[in-house]
Amino acid sequence: MKIETKSINCRNFINGQFVDVQDEMKFENINPATEEVVGWIAEATKEQVDEAVAAAKAALKGPWKDFTTKERSQILRRIGDLILENVEELAVLEATDTGKPYLLALEMDIKRSAHNFHFFADYLTSLGNESYNQDNIALHYSVTRPVGVVAMINPWNLPLLLLTWKLAPCLAAGSTSIMKPAELTPMTATRLVELCKEAGVPDGVVNLVHGFGGNSTGAFLSEHPDVDAITFTGETRTGTTIMKAAAPTLKKVSFELGGKNPNIIFADSDLDEVIETTLKSSFMNQGQVCLCGSRIYVERPIFDAFIEKFVARTNELKIGNPFEASTNIGSVVGKEHYEKVMGYIDIAREEGGQIVTGGGRPAGIEKGYFIEPTIIVGLTQNSRCVKEEIFGPVVAVLPFDTEEEVLGYANDTNYGLGATIWTNDLRRAHRVAGQIESGIVWVNTWYLRDLRTPFGGMKHSGIGREGGAHSFEFYCEVSNITIKL
Ligand code: NAD
Repeated sequence: MKIETKSINCRNFINGQFVDVQDEMKFENINPATEEVVGWIAEATKEQVDEAVAAAKAALKGPWKDFTTKERSQILRRIGDLILENVEELAVLEATDTGKPYLLALEMDIKRSAHNFHFFADYLTSLGNESYNQDNIALHYSVTRPVGVVAMINPWNLPLLLLTWKLAPCLAAGSTSIMKPAELTPMTATRLVELCKEAGVPDGVVNLVHGFGGNSTGAFLSEHPDVDAITFTGETRTGTTIMKAAAPTLKKVSFELGGKNPNIIFADSDLDEVIETTLKSSFMNQGQVCLCGSRIYVERPIFDAFIEKFVARTNELKIGNPFEASTNIGSVVGKEHYEKVMGYIDIAREEGGQIVTGGGRPAGIEKGYFIEPTIIVGLTQNSRCVKEEIFGPVVAVLPFDTEEEVLGYANDTNYGLGATIWTNDLRRAHRVAGQIESGIVWVNTWYLRDLRTPFGGMKHSGIGREGGAHSFEFYCEVSNITIKL
């Protein structure tokens, strides 16, 4: 595989134009797989954030408000098509920013980003509206309008995928946006705004501001009086801060937050299938997917067999250069995160865990933030590595004896995002799935998505749901109109 590497400098995009930035506001963009500086990022000033919000507000009253459903749908389709026309370039930028394998970026991040736009292009043209005839006394019907100016604050793990998962329904609803990518992964968002312009999105409808979270771009957006809604994906702790900042102006919020997802494996499941999917649910994207199953509960009769096969398959994963086709595992996103994940491996050792594979830097790789896929046994339910989100290629495997016991473990965290159950017993599958406190439960599979379905977390894993109508409604206001007959 010969791939032309590429990087771009990242400027802010306000009212349809990239804007200049003072040198002192530029910060370095580092490729985590090489530790090399690949360009600079322009941190938006408070004034630029104000300008972006003003542009988004004005655009609500501009030509955008007169776009018909069909025209908005055509624009969404065109953005999706343009993403596909530039799929390789975008995958290079994503792999360079994140350190993830290029082929994963291509298939999971970029192609699915295009699908987000194509999905909402179709969704828009199939919409009806609610109406009730109340015994011929009155006719009630609802009308929707855009919610207004939406701030989109994003994490670094699936940069373009999660951004487009917000932007596509926002544009479908006729709202306008200010996107803030994570400071570690700004490049694909910077290309996206150009593609939006090329697709015919009017100036001011899509704006982009780069920068950090607290005391910077993220905070300016969260507290801005003219931002009507915030959609945020990131850490639970950050969600709390954003909610406080948004409270005085009563913004509508949608939060997709952290997780500590259980993967429950009953002895009657098909072990080979379990192992192959569990490899992905543990280590895909270096374990940096909010849905990764980082605590694996295995019914005791198959515990040893599971560990033996799981370790053997994990040892076959190839770690290294994201731009080599054979690479399964790239680097984690940056130095700070590398130290956090390594710190948890140390904690696991202190807590009495035994590392059955991995546990450190891969031998022979001198540069870059690479961590071996790591499997830990011997921890108890109360250990920090079983309770806290690590968000790296590290899983804890624990045995269990009964269904009741494992349900207790599964629900014994503040999180409630995703869960996986493996069993061939249909009744048990329904019974357990219905009792897990989790927004998403997969049975005999993982990460199988249909964009119409509700997606999101309960407890400290989120507020609201995304997906199909759930996404669309967030970007709308609804009025009910009653006509007395
Ligand atoms: P993070 O919360 O550190 O940062 C996310 C974004 O918030 C960044 O753009 C950051 O600059 C911004 N931010 C940080 N502090 C802020 C503040 N005070 N005010 C406003 N904005 C602020 O999260 P991360 O480390 O980038 O991402 C990893 C986390 O995201 C994990 O917890 C993961 O589980 C979660 N996540 C959840 C989902 C989901 O769908 N539930 C999906 C992906 C990632």
